[in-house]
Amino acid sequence: MAKTFQNFINGTWVNAKSGKTFENRNPANWAEVLGTFPSSSKDDVDEAVKAARAAFERWRLVPAPHRGDILRKVGDLMTARKDEIARRMTREMGKVLLETRGDVQEGIDTAYYAATEGRRLFGHTVPSELPNKFNMAMRMPIGVAGIITPWNFPMAIPTWKIFPALVCGNTVVFKPASDTPETATILVEILAEAGIPEGVINLVHGGGGAVGMAIVEHPDIDLVSFTGSTSVGKKIAELAGKSLKRVSLELGGKNAQIVMEDANLDLALDGVLWGAFGTTGQRCTATSRLILHENIYDKFLSMLVAGVKKLRVGDGLKEGTHVGPLVNEGQREVVEEYVKIGTDEGATVLHGGKRLSGGEHEKGWFHEPTILVNVTPDMRVAREEIFGPVLSVLKVSSVEQAIEVSNNTKYGLSSSMYTQNIGYAYTAIRDIKAGITYINSPTIGAEAHMPFGGVKETGNGHREGGWTVFEFYSEWKTVYIDYSGKLQRAQIDTEGT
Ligand code: NAP
Repeated sequence: MAKTFQNFINGTWVNAKSGKTFENRNPANWAEVLGTFPSSSKDDVDEAVKAARAAFERWRLVPAPHRGDILRKVGDLMTARKDEIARRMTREMGKVLLETRGDVQEGIDTAYYAATEGRRLFGHTVPSELPNKFNMAMRMPIGVAGIITPWNFPMAIPTWKIFPALVCGNTVVFKPASDTPETATILVEILAEAGIPEGVINLVHGGGGAVGMAIVEHPDIDLVSFTGSTSVGKKIAELAGKSLKRVSLELGGKNAQIVMEDANLDLALDGVLWGAFGTTGQRCTATSRLILHENIYDKFLSMLVAGVKKLRVGDGLKEGTHVGPLVNEGQREVVEEYVKIGTDEGATVLHGGKRLSGGEHEKGWFHEPTILVNVTPDMRVAREEIFGPVLSVLKVSSVEQAIEVSNNTKYGLSSSMYTQNIGYAYTAIRDIKAGITYINSPTIGAEAHMPFGGVKETGNGHREGGWTVFEFYSEWKTVYIDYSGKLQRAQIDTEGT
């Protein structure tokens, strides 16, 4: 019988108030039920927020280095359980073990980074314009953070948000994606085991419309951090705007890898195979477009087809699998729909293009790695996010045209150029409108200690990762200490002594 999982509210594992549940299944074998989880509602969110609000008054007074110490322990516990977590993650969302291990490692890196940040969280001391007066600005916790996450990085993305939120002194109400409730549960178990006090982290499972919306609308939630689709992100921004909640949005992408005529083609091939088909194309930074200089177009395409033919599609738990299933039936239908949209618009399927069924593929949501050629920049498959193993190939004749095509989308997350020409490289860095540009590596590969995020409809200007994320989870308090013993008026008594 499938295991029953619960919410975590005020330090206790509990069912949804309604008693309702939903099932979590394996995308490589849909018949396999991995567990049942609470299908929560606004009532459960209310309880979680109440606990988080009360805990905030205690947690904000815990010295930040001690908050960091708990996160160091979290990192240690995750390290000890890395392989087990990776296996359970592959079972619940499909990507291959190599990648789920990387996902856990990103969480570990984020834990240790946040732990050390507990001893920094630097402020500023600044000279006053008046004598015998001291000025400083320091970081303060904000309150209760609502955290809403997607399924494609079910450990890394929650840790990017939850760990900085906690080390800054905020408490958390966490709603993970309905496709990956088990990985989220493991993370919260580990936080509890590491000694996080009751009410500081609260986990509420359930659907986006019910639980997610209740978090966004809750008057006692001070900030919302969301990663997911641009359409849901826009709804959240609109709703949260009504109460002026602080909101961080990390949304969709339509990332391109450019290969110039002078590139190392073997290197560029390794890059595009990993960037386009890793995580079955279900990464916000996935390489969804390949922009080839006309001089190497034919040669590179034949190399690409040969490379894609070697990719083994199957259960991510099996040794030798390169590409796992799509996360669910709906996501596979989206991929099929986009292949049709592309061919209806005049693109040609050079390789793949169909769902995989029969044999080991019969029970899961598998799709062939797919290459579309004769794609022009105006086509939907050249501009819209697909979130699957589909690569649209475009031909260009100059670096300027390559960058123009790369920019021809409403998104602006990641980008890549393969070239040996330093002039091309710096032009790309300057002119590609994206939050991230890689030179001679694929569009994927974020490191936990670097800022992560995008421009245009990929986000609203905040960054996760690195030092920048701590800006979002803290509020600046400006402090003036006047020890002159008299009234000193800024901008008026400015003569000095
Ligand atoms: P999604 O449908 O937008 O869902 C993301 C999260 O929001 C899930 O927890 C979902 O809950 C919840 N949600 C859904 N509707 C909601 C609503 N009305 N109010 C509040 N929460 C709601 O996205 P997804 O399909 O899970 O993820 C894929 C998308 O995420 C892609 O567009 C991808 O590019 C983007 N992404 C971006 C980044 C980045 O850092 N820029 C990273 C990874 C993924 P349920 O699961 O219960 O529906």
